[in-house]
Amino acid sequence: TTTAQRPRRVLLKLSGEVFGGGRIGVDPEVVRGIAAQIAAAIRQGTQVAIVVGGGNFFRGAELQQKGMDRARADYIGMLGTVMNCLALQDFLEKEGIDTRVQTAITMGQVAEPYIPRRAIRHLEKGRAVIFGAGAGMPYFSTDTVSAQRALECKCDMVLMSKSGVDGVYDSDPRTNPAARKLETVTYAHALQQNLKVVDAAAFSLCMENGLPMMVFGMEGEGNITRAIQGERIGTLVVA
Ligand code: UDP
Repeated sequence: TTTAQRPRRVLLKLSGEVFGGGRIGVDPEVVRGIAAQIAAAIRQGTQVAIVVGGGNFFRGAELQQKGMDRARADYIGMLGTVMNCLALQDFLEKEGIDTRVQTAITMGQVAEPYIPRRAIRHLEKGRAVIFGAGAGMPYFSTDTVSAQRALECKCDMVLMSKSGVDGVYDSDPRTNPAARKLETVTYAHALQQNLKVVDAAAFSLCMENGLPMMVFGMEGEGNITRAIQGERIGTLVVA
């Protein structure tokens, strides 16, 4: 089936940071709110795959700075993402949305292994699919995995939700008060200008494969639902 014949299919990236409500661990009320927004969009007919980060538990780079071996620290980071996946699954199912978690590191008691064709089948049946444990490989980020899963699962767009920033700016808005938000930007420009709101590896993977991305702030009322439904609420990044 071509994209014109089937319902819209998106890959939503959620950072782990928001799951903790600013602290370590999972804040169930935050996850409940996110799940309600995703469920609302799925009920309208969009197919939704999700990659969840793990920054509310561990980031490999931070553990490395405190003396740990980087690769082992990254595995700890990946395992953290799975707890977020299970929390999101729980609240999506409470919303009445059938949900499957697929992990890049196998852990049969809690999730399916990552099987792309099976993930696509779940999406076609209207199930939410949550991808956990990143790529299963150290030195990668969940932003990059989002681009990879979106490509392999034939999503129409990557929706990169961000916390504390509502799109791509022409310079870092946290340090430059004169920074301007861009309506549209090309991957090449974002990479040349070193605009770091999304990982360079994620940008280049999307650029090379012509996959559009929207970077948006998840804080606004209903923003996640609106983004999934195709509203332009952030910055569109194109090849
Ligand atoms: N990670 C990894 N490989 C991957 C994805 C994630 O090693 O493919 C590790 C890495 O240590 C990262 C952590 O998992 O710091 C949590 O993921 P990320 O920082 O991307 O989460 P977010 O910032 O989106 O919450």
